[in-house]
Amino acid sequence: MNIHEYQAKALLRDYGAPVSDGHVVTRAEEAKTIAGELDGPLWVVKAQIHAGGRGKGSFKEAEAGEKGGVRLAKSVEEAAEEARKMLGRTLVTHQTGPAGKQVNRVYIEDGSEIERELYLALLVDRQSSRISVVCSTEGGMDIEEVAASTPEKILTFAIDPATGYQGFHGRRVAFALGLEGQQVKQCVRLLGQLYQLFTDKDVELLEINPLIVTDAGDLKCLDCKMGFDGNALYRHEDVFALRDETEEDPKELAASKYDLNYIALDGEIGCMVNGAGLAMATMDIIKLYGAEPANFLDVGGGATKEKVTEAFKIITSDPNVKGILVNIFGGIMRCDVIAEGVVAAVKEVGLEVPLVVRLEGTNVEKGKEIINTSGLNVIAADNLSDAAEKVVKAVKG
Ligand code: GDP
Ligand code: MN
Repeated sequence: MNIHEYQAKALLRDYGAPVSDGHVVTRAEEAKTIAGELDGPLWVVKAQIHAGGRGKGSFKEAEAGEKGGVRLAKSVEEAAEEARKMLGRTLVTHQTGPAGKQVNRVYIEDGSEIERELYLALLVDRQSSRISVVCSTEGGMDIEEVAASTPEKILTFAIDPATGYQGFHGRRVAFALGLEGQQVKQCVRLLGQLYQLFTDKDVELLEINPLIVTDAGDLKCLDCKMGFDGNALYRHEDVFALRDETEEDPKELAASKYDLNYIALDGEIGCMVNGAGLAMATMDIIKLYGAEPANFLDVGGGATKEKVTEAFKIITSDPNVKGILVNIFGGIMRCDVIAEGVVAAVKEVGLEVPLVVRLEGTNVEKGKEIINTSGLNVIAADNLSDAAEKVVKAVKG
């Protein structure tokens, strides 16, 4: 689960990390009052969406010459005006895709004078099963470009969980970033605070880009992206409360309400499968036959008819879906429950694309009978490969 920059900065502040003062604005009428609560002489107005690249992004509704999703202002009035312009508009960045994201909140912050822009991140490195630190002198807006063309400018190392965070980790970062004097101490303290926050809250990714050296020579976190381990949210009510459902894929959101393991993808074949392994294999074999899956979906072992119905509705609600493959190997999951769910969903929302069904395992005869007597226009398949071939053929001709 990801959170907004202003929420991430509030968490940083709680842990003592240096951030600017700022306030969030949701209604244009409030912008002037809220901007007036900050001292100036420089204000920064920042669109709050769950995507990076805001500075270089642009609004769909922008007039010629208008700036992106991060703007500097020299007065309260100017800051309020920029906030008003951003609210309700759609910001497109290299991370949002061409559809962009609607800006429902704007963060107004005390502006900083920047001497240098650095990069600092903590993440869970699955290879080493440890928390890794990533840092670079080349912070700012083009870190992807740095990673691609000059990877030697990025330092990565893991922190041993047996020792936890130690001062030498912080000094190593400070040295790599070319920090001096007081900044070294600040860096050691900051990395310790970030590591504490990371482990306390089961964070998955914490990225500060840029971490700046101000004109006064101090470190400050100017931007922050934070993502949390979804499987650990049950033990962090405070973090879960920061969830912004408007930022999530509506199909994934609906699936999460029914406890379905669903991930939206870009392809044209909707998949309903039981078991994560079989779901992966189904996606692979669809690709093997020359098409792309529109989703990953594992309905799980003990799914009810209602859950299967919801899952099917989510698949059909995706306009990219040009064909559906139901692939069930009934073990704990019974084929008749799946069949009932599919038939119920089609009765409710109709079926406008070809449907291939492969059922095998527990109660398979009963399941097939339910489908066969339902009057649904179903293409039956005997095994995984047959099913994939048939659905790809039905879609691609
Ligand atoms: P992103 O584009 O979504 O990563 O948004 P950032 O918060 O990183 O802002 C983008 C860029 O705007 C930064 O790299 C800075 O160069 C600039 N910026 C952000 N805040 C300030 C500020 O307080 N003062 C100045 N001078 N520039 C800022
Ligand atoms: Mn940034």
